[in-house]
Amino acid sequence: MTAILELRNIRGGYGTIDVLHGVNLAVEPGQVHALLGPNGAGKTTTLGVCSGQIVPSGGQLVVSGREVQGATSDALARAGVCLVPEGRGIFPNLTVAENLRMFTHAGASFSDVQDKAFGQFPRLKERRKQVAGTMSGGEQQMLAMARAIATEPALLLLDELSMGLAPLIVEELYERVAEMAAQGVSILVVEQFAQAVLGVADIASIMLHGRVTRTGPPTEIAEELAEAYLGTTADLTPV
Ligand code: ATP
Repeated sequence: MTAILELRNIRGGYGTIDVLHGVNLAVEPGQVHALLGPNGAGKTTTLGVCSGQIVPSGGQLVVSGREVQGATSDALARAGVCLVPEGRGIFPNLTVAENLRMFTHAGASFSDVQDKAFGQFPRLKERRKQVAGTMSGGEQQMLAMARAIATEPALLLLDELSMGLAPLIVEELYERVAEMAAQGVSILVVEQFAQAVLGVADIASIMLHGRVTRTGPPTEIAEELAEAYLGTTADLTPV
């Protein structure tokens, strides 16, 4: 089966600062792939490469079998790659409905976008007239994800979905992630704390110092991750 996304020996960073030192990673169709690792490992930078925001200095970025390194964010978005950035990327001063309307530029009708968004996240429907910035963190994350799925992406890139959210909300969001994958969306999700995502991931990778050091079944990765972070098998539940 052709991977939806493949990174082959990807190198890159910011100006003269090299962050990625040869990243190899593949996301298979309809799978949730969790990319885990400590602060500063290069996870967000990897998503930057995948979404066209950072041009790699070496290696190949392959989307649905086509080499696309150097393609713009717009071109990658048209190829079905959609990023939900850390911090969510929504417009805090606009209402829920207005935020969704901003995503109709690609030709989808507003009612289609709303149907998809509210179908997946019914709570947003009740709040359609609420200013996004006044919603809870979990609801804002739902809006960010709802906007993303309204574009019918082939590949969804999620950066730190759980950031600043209560464990129950995170669990609910990951249930939605699993549903999206069941509907055929391929998902690459970056997290620092593993617990929540490992429950829904099909496969997981550990990133350390700009390299993927291990890829395997989530249960095995959970154990190795504890050692990678701490040199122990201590509990990783965030406090
Ligand atoms: P975190 O979970 O803390 O975001 P991460 O694994 O996502 O960690 P990155 O954000 O990819 O890590 O950062 C990797 C390295 O790149 C870090 O050393 C960081 O300081 C550096 N870096 C990130 N953004 C920039 C930037 N815009 N300019 C220069 N260096 C950057």
